[in-house]
Amino acid sequence: MKRNPRRAYDRDGREIQPATVGSHLALGRRKIEIFCNDCRRYGNGIDVSDLPPETPIPDICLRYRCSVCGSKNLISRGDTHEHYALIDAARKGKT
Ligand SMILES: [Zn+2]
Repeated sequence: MKRNPRRAYDRDGREIQPATVGSHLALGRRKIEIFCNDCRRYGNGIDVSDLPPETPIPDICLRYRCSVCGSKNLISRGDTHEHYALIDAARKGKT
């Protein structure tokens, strides 16, 4: 069976369900970042709250091209800045 490069697999080769826009929003997150495998730059703060909830987060990069080098060899994942901002807010107690 051919593996999807944008998915993770467990030890038995079963696909692990990716995060989706819906599961991302359910965690109080709205943003993703896209990383370029070729020039190793990334863009962050991309709001995904308008996308269909079933959209897998790792597939959002298919809609993009790197604005620096033009590559389509991209990775999309949860926005790291937002991730740490939420952890920080939780630690301080919500304001
Ligand atoms: Zn690039």
